[in-house]
Amino acid sequence: MKAATALIRTAALNHNIDVIRAMAPNSRAWAAIKANGYGHGLLPVAKALSSQVDGFGVARLDEALQLRAGGVVKPILLLEGFYSAVDLPAVVANNLQTVLHCEEQLQAFERATLERPVTVWLKIDTGMHRLGVNPDDVSDFIARLEACPNVAKPLHFISHFGCADEPENPLTLQQIDLFKALTAGQPGLKSLAASSGTLMWPTSHFDYVRPGISLYGISPVSERTGADFGLQPAMTMTSSLIAVRRAKQGDAIGYGSRWVTPRDTLLGVVAIGYGDGYPRVAPDGTPLLVNGRRVPLVGRVSMDMLTVDLGPDATDRVGDEVILWGDGLPVEEIAQHVGTIGYELVTNITSRVDIVYT
Ligand SMILES: *Cc1c(COP(=O)(O)O)cnc(C)c1O
Repeated sequence: MKAATALIRTAALNHNIDVIRAMAPNSRAWAAIKANGYGHGLLPVAKALSSQVDGFGVARLDEALQLRAGGVVKPILLLEGFYSAVDLPAVVANNLQTVLHCEEQLQAFERATLERPVTVWLKIDTGMHRLGVNPDDVSDFIARLEACPNVAKPLHFISHFGCADEPENPLTLQQIDLFKALTAGQPGLKSLAASSGTLMWPTSHFDYVRPGISLYGISPVSERTGADFGLQPAMTMTSSLIAVRRAKQGDAIGYGSRWVTPRDTLLGVVAIGYGDGYPRVAPDGTPLLVNGRRVPLVGRVSMDMLTVDLGPDATDRVGDEVILWGDGLPVEEIAQHVGTIGYELVTNITSRVDIVYT
């Protein structure tokens, strides 16, 4: 009998990247596989997608080094750049491309002595106001980067949307216009769209799209699921029933006695909890699949277990499989119940969970 296990269908990854690339047929694609491939496994996801993408985007130098150590030879882009000048030799030695978004990173390049120039993507803040060079400073950065022998020519350009998951939000078109204006006439490559831009904003595609969450079959947009875009969930989170028990009307279940049984019923205890990454904040009524039918979570999620109401006539047995999300139960739906997004649920899986590739 298995405890928490994430089943990853690599064929779904292959299907999803085909769907995504068909939406942006004239663009190349970086696959965003940071945070352990959004919980799906960094190296296995890279290997599964390798022949279908132009490169990989990661958030941490260490993620890039793991990919190189694992034999990945495709281009790799550090989406936030390097965090310290001491990282630059590793960027060069591992043939990484880097985002550059601030004065400190620029000075690191200007002061370094590197064996080879590095391919740099200048990040412009077009309106999200998280990372990036302010529009007023762009021409100064371009001039200094072009004069810097450690920077490969031509210089490339990147920016990121703040609200592209909201189809009506005017910020997205403003960001596209500003990005175009600030990079007009530049010979370098341009990249703006993550998943929501790729799927919903065709004029944002430019030279490279950067899909992340959609690769895994999950919608970047709330109120919709991956299936609405023709995507398939790559991860199905499973566990097993480790007890089936009678409860009497009025019994209070679990820590804090949060849920009180409204009628005599059968309760199932499932071997998964917040120690595996299932959210403790999940409310009563969050659905799970047991033998193909939806049953509600009842009572607080514990570290290693949670409880479901199987109903008075249930015939489920100890050892039966339970699906927490994935096939037949979109993670987006669980996220709605919990008050978060699918991104957080899949990324929060802990190291205790077995990841099995099928
Ligand atoms: C994570 C990330 C992406 C991918 O975003 P999704 O919404 O998961 O598609 C793209 N670009 C940058 C800079 C990122 O950090």
